[in-house]
Amino acid sequence: MRLGCIDGEAVLIRDDRYAGLAEPSAQRFATPGLVYGDWPGFLAWAAREPDLPWHRLDPKRLQAPVPVPGQVFGVGLNFHDHLAENGRAGTRPLPLTFTKFPSCITGPYDDVEIPLGGVDYEVELVLVIGRHADRVPADRAWDHIAGLTVGQDLSARGVQQGGQLSLAKSFRGFAPIGPWVTTPDELPDRDALDLRCWVNGELLQDGTTKDMVHNVPELIAFLSTVTPLRPGDLVFTGTPAGVGFFRTPQKFLAPADVVRSEIPGLGVIENRCIAPAAPGPYDQALGALAPRPPQPA
Ligand code: ZN
Repeated sequence: MRLGCIDGEAVLIRDDRYAGLAEPSAQRFATPGLVYGDWPGFLAWAAREPDLPWHRLDPKRLQAPVPVPGQVFGVGLNFHDHLAENGRAGTRPLPLTFTKFPSCITGPYDDVEIPLGGVDYEVELVLVIGRHADRVPADRAWDHIAGLTVGQDLSARGVQQGGQLSLAKSFRGFAPIGPWVTTPDELPDRDALDLRCWVNGELLQDGTTKDMVHNVPELIAFLSTVTPLRPGDLVFTGTPAGVGFFRTPQKFLAPADVVRSEIPGLGVIENRCIAPAAPGPYDQALGALAPRPPQPA
């Protein structure tokens, strides 16, 4: 099953058609918040194959499939090839965790403002929590995941190096997700998903979730040891090698660039970089935090 969001309404998606859930017979699931807030109830309702009117889908109308998540977790340095380009090959005992503030979520085809230099791309698998997860062992973790989607963990590297990791990853629009949420039963192997990212047509990242340091069940087990995960929360699970920061020369995003991110089986999102709509009072101070080249570890 695929679930998206159009004009704030939750929609079911099949091929090039969609059915809106604000219909009278579906209204208890009219928004994504209502769907994920009662995921078991939604699955039971959907299994009865409700009769809904289907319409032709214009993909450009799709918004972020989880537009207002409660919590958004991020995981850094979670792919072996990305650790290697970081000069830190090996394993990590615990996932490196940060937050992306929920207000930076944006849609699969939305423009993204690039307000300063040193902004990097990171294609990622994003988990959507469907059942309250509190101290969940890894072997039961998948039961708590409603679905999966494609995300970009856009990152302002200079601000990140300045010690403000969560803020560096939370400028407005720095978390495009979509184009829809896919339930894991749709996938031939939910633990082996390819991730690719192109900038202006050039393939810059090409990895697989099989290369994760801490896999999806381990991430749920770890995070839920510390704090309960709630229905509708998101987890960005880390990026493979190929980010701009570790390239020689370094490669960062600028207005007019087009970032295309794909996970086969989950879909493609594509975001155009644009200049900021208006200046902010701290633009200059933040822009002065230019990223330094990586130091050999
Ligand atoms: Zn990331």
